[in-house]
Amino acid sequence: MKSEELSTFLNISGIPTTSFYEYKISNFIQNELNQMGLEFTIDEWGNIEIFIEGTSEEELVFISHMDHPGFELTEKISDSKYKAIPLGGLPKNCENLSTPIIVFDNEKIVKGKILKSSDSSIVEDYRWLTKKEVIIEVNESIDLPAPAVFDLPEPKISGNQVITPVADDLAGCSIILETFKKLKNVKTKYSMRAIFTRAEEVGLVGARVIADSKRIKNDSIIVSIETSSELPGAVSGLGPIIRAGDRISTFNNDGEIILLSAIQKIQETDKGFKFQRQLMNLGGCEASAFLPFGYRVTGITLPLINWHNSTPDGNVEPERINILDYENAIKIMTNIGKLDIVEPEKYYKRLIDLPDEADRLKGN
Ligand SMILES: [Zn+2]
Repeated sequence: MKSEELSTFLNISGIPTTSFYEYKISNFIQNELNQMGLEFTIDEWGNIEIFIEGTSEEELVFISHMDHPGFELTEKISDSKYKAIPLGGLPKNCENLSTPIIVFDNEKIVKGKILKSSDSSIVEDYRWLTKKEVIIEVNESIDLPAPAVFDLPEPKISGNQVITPVADDLAGCSIILETFKKLKNVKTKYSMRAIFTRAEEVGLVGARVIADSKRIKNDSIIVSIETSSELPGAVSGLGPIIRAGDRISTFNNDGEIILLSAIQKIQETDKGFKFQRQLMNLGGCEASAFLPFGYRVTGITLPLINWHNSTPDGNVEPERINILDYENAIKIMTNIGKLDIVEPEKYYKRLIDLPDEADRLKGN
């Protein structure tokens, strides 16, 4: 199975990226938007934004991030050795396995590896690297600072999965691109905005500066488009997840019933449509960056295997997502384009209108 929708994801997720060094992804997205004929703006922090005006003022803002955990080389120790600091959560065993890495800049890629540490003073986590820095050995001299990521095989389809260096969150970015490609010529009731952010993995930074700037009108609903580690009740292959919350927050029902209404629309013709609903509490996501500023938030997330390239016991592996989950997420998103504005009174009509049986409760 290889749909056209998947090719964007296969192309983008082979591009190296990490926090503060998202420019290759940013260029890819800008190029895609140009080809689609969709106008975009780039704010002072490098976040990319597109907007499709609907027939109402009601606005949904889809957010995904362009970065992924990696390293930043900051200091030269010798001709071939550099200190590097982790950017985001990384598998603990990357340091014990002489893990191959690539250092990238605009022109070239330099291969190297993480050196095994002799430092035994560090308390080990069950899965994650807790150290503040690692030593990276490379074949040539590097201009500092410079980004490095794991040297993993190119993205590929294997059975019903995509195995890739980066699903988090380039799957989210490509889901948004595919959705806007489909909706750009559709007269939607909702106005739809999308923002591709930076530096999520080091503390939701791109999303927080946008929320703090208050440039998004306050009655908008923010929809985080993400991947998140599999959990019981959030299993890869059983459909995308309507995200009831994250590690930081519980999200808002006002947003969730829009996503669930889109699913009801799909179910009119596809009764067996697969989706899940869960509070994904292992990671934080960008919806939580907007909550403290008074925004209503919700999310769609794909169950992710080998989250942040870490197996459950901390070895380095490519990330994996299921193709059905990815395709169904796009279906939910594009069906929002067919919706009337979702009014809670209508959505909950069956609960608000009391049944005749209510009278039986009276008197005894
Ligand atoms: Zn992440």
